[in-house]
Amino acid sequence: MVATFALVAVGIAIGALAGWRFSARRTPPAPPPPRVSAPPRPTLNPLQVLRGEDLVALAERDARELAEELRPYLEDVARQHGASEVTLWRRPRADVPALEIAAWTGAGEPPDGAVWGTAAERALVSWSATEQMVGFERRDGEPRIAICPVRFASGEPTGAIVLSATDRFRTERDGLRDWLPRHAAQVGRLASLFSTRNEVARQSRFTRALLRIARDLQRTHEPEALEHELCTYAVEVTGAEFAVLLRWDATTRTGRVAAATDGAPVLLRDGPVTEGSVAGACCVEGTASFWEDARYLAERGGLLRDDDAGVVTGAMAVLPMLRGTEAVGALMIGAARSGVLRALEIRNGSVLAALAVNALEAAWELADASRRSRTDPLTGLWNRRHFDEQLDRILAETDRFGGSCALVICDLDHFKRVNDTYGHDAGDAVLRQASKLLHDGVRTVDVCARLGGEELALLLPQTAPDGAMELAERLRERIASHVVEHAGITIRVTVSMGVASYTAGSVGKATLFKRADERLYEAKAGGRNRVVAE
Ligand code: GH3
Ligand code: MG
Ligand code: MG
Repeated sequence: MVATFALVAVGIAIGALAGWRFSARRTPPAPPPPRVSAPPRPTLNPLQVLRGEDLVALAERDARELAEELRPYLEDVARQHGASEVTLWRRPRADVPALEIAAWTGAGEPPDGAVWGTAAERALVSWSATEQMVGFERRDGEPRIAICPVRFASGEPTGAIVLSATDRFRTERDGLRDWLPRHAAQVGRLASLFSTRNEVARQSRFTRALLRIARDLQRTHEPEALEHELCTYAVEVTGAEFAVLLRWDATTRTGRVAAATDGAPVLLRDGPVTEGSVAGACCVEGTASFWEDARYLAERGGLLRDDDAGVVTGAMAVLPMLRGTEAVGALMIGAARSGVLRALEIRNGSVLAALAVNALEAAWELADASRRSRTDPLTGLWNRRHFDEQLDRILAETDRFGGSCALVICDLDHFKRVNDTYGHDAGDAVLRQASKLLHDGVRTVDVCARLGGEELALLLPQTAPDGAMELAERLRERIASHVVEHAGITIRVTVSMGVASYTAGSVGKATLFKRADERLYEAKAGGRNRVVAE
């Protein structure tokens, strides 16, 4: 029985030795060499400073402070039991088997973790930390080393406290067996108090930064800028690797991606968001959700759309932005590696979402109102007001950047007859479908507007005259071959178009509209269903 235990213990000790790695630090780390010139710090946002701090340097500073904090207690322990040296070993993270020296007291220089003790002693320390048992190493029948496991708060990494005697301890073996667990408990408590204090300090810095962000958000009114700012801040306050902002409409129970940081998976970059998706469900329920391993989300359906087949790896959280109980949007944050997102920092993301909701909603509503005032309700195309502004902008840009732009004016042929023959509703349907064919046939940079009545226009930036002519011809054909079905009847319609161009630096900027209109008149006069360019 004893032999079996010893074998098991040796087995464990050898196993533990394999993962043995002490941090070697006999002398305090040398101060970093002075910087000649500080690298420019991006002035993106206030948290940059916080995140920009070297996390490794922060961890090292914490470790030094912890050692200082615990030393007086270890000195008391040494005095009480006549130990020449007391060492506190700690596993820095739960998932690494290696132990490091967290605090130490004794004569001379602090020990070098890598060469401390004999192999057997080191194995014993590791064994004690892993198995949570008190152990002694003897010499000439007397305990020379006493080891007791230390638990640093529940669920935290473990470690061990080790007392060494040059000759023998003042306290008897049984006394040590009684005292050591009490010392271990006290050291564990002190260490966890210390880390709580650090965490609180860190959080209060985050809180101050969040307040600054809230102020900044209030200052940004342009929706696109605000959306991107918010994504960047979300990454900063949560430590996530990417963020995606969704806009959600609680009435229609649909949403869309409003913005995403560069690091976001392609799958999450744009497009609609449906009710049955993971993100949609979070918005409907208005509850924040966090998944340590996002791969399991595949079982619940697509992330943004019910039928999305793509899978995102790593961790992911969806933080709805609520007005009352209704979501107006959501922040999705994630990291390709799991373990990067922590509950505490995800909470910062929720605070950010709550802080931003008013500014964002106001910006969205203003943008919607502005868009409505520039949109033609029947066709969904831009209206005359927007067209006039865009014409000025595109002409100015052509002067500035060179190249040429083009204007195409379109007028439906014999449209009055359509109304007279099939009724006004049928006329509306024809107008809507012709508008859609034009809208779908141009680039996103092109402006497609309804000038009034059945007169439509295309503004084509950076387009050469022959390119404009080709496009107009293609669109004319598309409309001519399209069959409008309305209330059980089929209607065919054709369109006439006039094309005019403007080249940077040439005359004719002021006459562009007039020239296009004249070409349109020629197309009509020439028999309709045709394109006339200059
Ligand atoms: P042309 O080939 O010379 O352009 O002939 P046309 O009949 O299209 O030209 P005209 O300017 O004589 O008539 C335009 C018609 O378009 C008159 C008007 O009733 C109709 N119209 C204008 N706006 C709308 C609209 O919003 N809906 C409907 N259904 N008809 C409209
Ligand atoms: Mg007409
Ligand atoms: Mg007309």
